[in-house]
Amino acid sequence: MRSLVVAIDGPSGSGKSSTSRGVAARLGLRYLDTGAMFRAVTWWMLDHGVDVTDPAAIAARAAEPVIESGTDPLDPTILLDGEDASVAIRSDAVNASVSPVSAVPAVRTRLLELQREIIGEGGIVVEGRDIGSVVAPDAPVKLFLTADPEARAVRRAAEAGGDVAATQESLLARDEIDSGRTTAPLTMADGAVHIDTTPYTLDEVISQVVALVEAVTAASSVGSQARE
Ligand code: C5P
Repeated sequence: MRSLVVAIDGPSGSGKSSTSRGVAARLGLRYLDTGAMFRAVTWWMLDHGVDVTDPAAIAARAAEPVIESGTDPLDPTILLDGEDASVAIRSDAVNASVSPVSAVPAVRTRLLELQREIIGEGGIVVEGRDIGSVVAPDAPVKLFLTADPEARAVRRAAEAGGDVAATQESLLARDEIDSGRTTAPLTMADGAVHIDTTPYTLDEVISQVVALVEAVTAASSVGSQARE
């Protein structure tokens, strides 16, 4: 388990964050929310007056934000230039601009390096859009979570407050950009297990993922014993 990487991808509101945190807490692993990193870069650009509709302007400053991600699943933190950014990164302004900012290759290259540094030797659950496909393609456990758009909007609106119809519109607009971009689009990675979370409670999804992780780690320890 200590070197394990669990990659969890999927669209917003599919249950990724709650599932990833719950699985990490149950298995004593670290947790990395890569979406929070893209959100932090987006907030930094907005806060520094960068035109977030201009990919070249974003790329020119992509190296500047200093991002520190805490990996405790019970208390994940995000510092931007040394200050807590956990509230600012969930603002409507960030929701509206995070997908175009995340599509800029210079932003992805910068964050890929940071993400791989944090993953290090493993022992971590990592959630995002391109974890199984690009960030950690060798992860032994890869999940792709989805849910019906309406269920996703209801969950997100309950978490963040706000109108379900407007939330659904915003989620679908982000999905379209995230799935259609050229660099590291949202996709189900080779070898990923797909779970449609719509009919399940959070606890049920966490239990399914924990069972899968335990099956994979048991099989690989049997394999390594057989080779000894
Ligand atoms: O997961 P969350 O909804 O917080 O992600 C916010 C946005 O960050 C996504 O809509 C996507 O544009 C971007 N993102 C990404 N790659 C990741 C994680 C998030 O492009 N690995």
